[in-house]
Amino acid sequence: MTALVPADVISRLKSVLGPDGWSQDPDRLAPKLVEWRDRWAGHTPLLLLPRSTAEVSAVVGICAEARTPIVPQGGNTGLVAGQIPQGEVLLSLEKMRAIRDVEPFDDVIVAEAGVTLAAVHEAAEGVGRRFPLSVASEGSATIGGLVSTNAGGTAVLRYGTMRDLVLGVEAVLPNGEVFHGLKRLRKDNTGYDLKQLLIGAEGTLGVVTAASLKLFPLLASRATAFAAVDEPADAITLLKRAKEESGGAVETFELIARIGIDFVLEHVPGAREPLEGTYPWYLLIEIASGETGAAEAAMERLLGKALEDGLIRDAAIAQSKAQAQAFWSIREHQSAAQKPQGSVWKHDISTPISGISRFLIEATAAMERFSPDCRVLAFGHLGDGNIHFDVLQPKGGDGAAHTARRDDAARIIDDIVAELGGSISAEHGLGAMKTLEAERFKSPVELDALRAIRAALDPDRIMNPRVLF
Ligand SMILES: Cc1cc2nc3c(=O)[nH]c(=O)nc-3n(C[C@H](O)[C@H](O)[C@H](O)COP(=O)(O)OP(=O)(O)OC[C@H]3O[C@@H](n4cnc5c(N)ncnc54)[C@H](O)[C@@H]3O)c2cc1C
Repeated sequence: MTALVPADVISRLKSVLGPDGWSQDPDRLAPKLVEWRDRWAGHTPLLLLPRSTAEVSAVVGICAEARTPIVPQGGNTGLVAGQIPQGEVLLSLEKMRAIRDVEPFDDVIVAEAGVTLAAVHEAAEGVGRRFPLSVASEGSATIGGLVSTNAGGTAVLRYGTMRDLVLGVEAVLPNGEVFHGLKRLRKDNTGYDLKQLLIGAEGTLGVVTAASLKLFPLLASRATAFAAVDEPADAITLLKRAKEESGGAVETFELIARIGIDFVLEHVPGAREPLEGTYPWYLLIEIASGETGAAEAAMERLLGKALEDGLIRDAAIAQSKAQAQAFWSIREHQSAAQKPQGSVWKHDISTPISGISRFLIEATAAMERFSPDCRVLAFGHLGDGNIHFDVLQPKGGDGAAHTARRDDAARIIDDIVAELGGSISAEHGLGAMKTLEAERFKSPVELDALRAIRAALDPDRIMNPRVLF
């Protein structure tokens, strides 16, 4: 087999970065070659660790000249294998960790690609501001990765995805040239928007080296609650009421199936039942307002009336920060707590919000027909019409046999999603894992246009070649 990266290219890349700028040490490489769920493992002849945009430009330039493929990697929390190399050069942004500026008058923070989301939150709070994107992986996920996957999370309902939160991007394009696009403008209507093409490009159109991001005021009042409903249709009615009652101040509206609470109680030390009884479905709801006491008052009105009407079965409003954190912890551990259960088929789908109830009914029935005794765990961002629909192997069953049927299961789910006008990947992207499946749902017109854009920027397809169209 021909090596993807010739020896002379490896020597040139090493010499341009110097001894601290690369590694071939198997122990250093190991954590970067396997994804979070241990599902994908990869290999690379060389890990590049550039410290500046100029160094990224130099190495990408060499790769472009030699037609050598590159896989960019941030915090390695991606869930669709886009960051795991299979013989390509691995370019990590871990050494580009500077916050270049935080400016409360422009409400902007400029962070390099390797800065974690948690560090951005901290820097924003340092000047009395907030960056509202929130994901359970925020201690590791980086700005470069979040931009490149157009990440979503638990506050999209109010603030949108990365697409809505990025004001500017600096990136090294596939030919090695630097796009200096770190604008801070709220309005810039000057034709095609290259920044938006790079957002969600999953490393196929260049290497993001920094981004300027929108900041928001810290809000004075915040109410966090757990509520229980009999079925998702009731949750959708409650969501509509919550938006109206709070004047659009709902930040979080997350759905969790009972089985997800059971897994957290079983596997997360210190976890406790959120409500006294047990119910089929739960909601984590957060309302936030700039006016003192307003969020708490809106939450009380919303839940009080819903209890009276019988729309919800029970509810509790957090009475302290610790209680709010305990509610959040249940939500944030939904993925980790299912890991010990064995093999899982994961689907990250969206439909119009009104279609979610039908999706859950039809998809659950389809999976029960396809794999009797499988266990369906649905949870996620109901407020955005985005559900993580996970199908676990039968208890005590054969994990490998379950894994082997993953693609067939995905096709059944994805057909239901398409029928409802939804998306087969709501927030995790396509990566190397879902690209082929996604082609089933894109028209030839769209695919041709997307491929033409990529070919124009990267004629030799050196950037993340196994990812996207
Ligand atoms: C527990 C858990 C919870 C999660 N919750 C959410 C959630 O709520 N919402 C959500 O959207 N995602 C979620 N994710 C997925 C993941 O955290 C996001 O996709 C995140 O944006 C990935 O960031 P990263 O830095 O880890 O990128 P990586 O995993 O390293 O890379 C992801 C993709 O981006 C590309 N890339 C990375 N850095 C760059 C760069 N600088 N330039 C160009 N391309 C680059 C890679 O090549 C790859 O294709 C979750 C993951 C975990 C493990």
